[in-house]
Amino acid sequence: MTTAIPAAEPSFRDSVDIMFNRAVALMDLSPGLEEKIRVCNATYTVRFGVRLRGRIQTFTGYRSVHSEHMEPVKGGIRYSLGVNQDEVEALAALMTYKCALVEAPFGGSKGGLCIDPREYDEHELELITRRFAYELIKRDMINPAQNVPAPDMGTGEREMAWIADQYKRMNTTDINGVACVTGKPINAGGIQGRTEATGRGVQYALHAFFRDAQGMAKAGLQGTLAGKRVIVQGLGNVGYHAAKFLSEEDDCVITTVIERDGALKNDNGINVEALHQWIAKHDTIKGYPDATLIEDGAELLTAECDILIPAALEGVINLANAHDVKAPLIVEAANGPVTAGADEILREKGVVIIPDMYANAGGVTVSYFEWVKNLSHIRFGRMQRRNEESRHQLLVDELERLSADSGVGWQLSPNFKDKYLRGAGELELVRSGLYDTMVDAYQSMAAIWHNRDDVEDLRTAAYLVSIGKVAASYRAKGL
Ligand code: NAD
Repeated sequence: MTTAIPAAEPSFRDSVDIMFNRAVALMDLSPGLEEKIRVCNATYTVRFGVRLRGRIQTFTGYRSVHSEHMEPVKGGIRYSLGVNQDEVEALAALMTYKCALVEAPFGGSKGGLCIDPREYDEHELELITRRFAYELIKRDMINPAQNVPAPDMGTGEREMAWIADQYKRMNTTDINGVACVTGKPINAGGIQGRTEATGRGVQYALHAFFRDAQGMAKAGLQGTLAGKRVIVQGLGNVGYHAAKFLSEEDDCVITTVIERDGALKNDNGINVEALHQWIAKHDTIKGYPDATLIEDGAELLTAECDILIPAALEGVINLANAHDVKAPLIVEAANGPVTAGADEILREKGVVIIPDMYANAGGVTVSYFEWVKNLSHIRFGRMQRRNEESRHQLLVDELERLSADSGVGWQLSPNFKDKYLRGAGELELVRSGLYDTMVDAYQSMAAIWHNRDDVEDLRTAAYLVSIGKVAASYRAKGL
């Protein structure tokens, strides 16, 4: 179903380097420092056997560390048959730039296991995951102080809980052990709002963009998000949450969902929650009643819309289809969905791209909050919430007393009272921290995009911000 990437295209890793080189050419870095930042520090390949269904099956996994200018290094673990060294290294590099851009104090890393998780039952996946984790833990490639994985394509809370438990079994006296991985379920040391975080961050990125009049003008867009026609590719963790929030909270119209087994189209809008439940039950989009099925789903990446959100895999917009893209705005919810060649074509066409290293940074931002929560051993808001509520109650009581005593008879609206009196719990604090991060990071990119004549696009601006921060960190260390 993926649009085949033309042979003339560079690999994913090379694509990231081409984009990096484009940005770094506009900077004044010494060649040595430039090279130090670009290269991937190390990639560990492991092959291990697990006895399944009466025979030993061998699996190949990777953990790549791109930059250790800050530790721990951070990056998800992906389960997919497409996993290879080039992909893991490209994703690790993107993690370095992403963390720097949103000021999450981590270096960049990524892991992957070459496996189709749908071919194994839960028990088998647990055996495989624990064995993979064992191989990485014993080499300190999973460790709360050195290398902290998170979910990515094909993995989620369940796998993270197994990894955390495996680490605890192997490091029984490490009081911070649970911080060895993020994206865990709440009852295994996770944080409220982590599962939705990447999709939520995509929504916040669009909020920031729609408040940027100059950016909107460059994309030829007007008005608010309400009524904007959106195409989403991939209704997994990231795509589902992004599409759900954009349609339910911002009144976007999700006209098309592209999945691995085709696409669904309904110009009046697809009910994302209903479709999500359909997929959970039937394991396919086929047969969903309220939309038209198109067998070659990838074709719809070039359909008419206001916003295109690729949220599945890399390289889907490439030399073969970039000329035909009609969306004025692309939000890269996936990592690397636009190849370097396609990026150039789209830039010339005037398409605005909100780049991956920013658009999907919500996940690592909330992972950072989870890691801090684990190290502090207390949930956010636990100490302040009641105190905040009682201080608010004091103010409301005083206002009501003044109103009664003065005989004016003003009444606070019940809605105001409900909202004002409620102190912030963990979920509210996480969303507030995420919103703040996404808005700040957007502004740091937009300031460069709009004010430097030699910077044509948001991606280059994003690289300039993040490479500048990584360089400053290396310089501070005396490198
Ligand atoms: P996921 O496994 O939850 O979902 C991926 C979805 O894409 C699935 O619904 C799958 O069926 C669909 N898909 C697979 N192949 C497809 C194809 N050829 N065409 C259309 N759809 C296809 O993965 P995810 O965690 O949502 O990750 C998606 C992307 O977002 C990846 O690029 C990942 O690196 C990136 N990302 C994820 C996170 C996170 O927190 N999970 C954070 C940052 C970036």
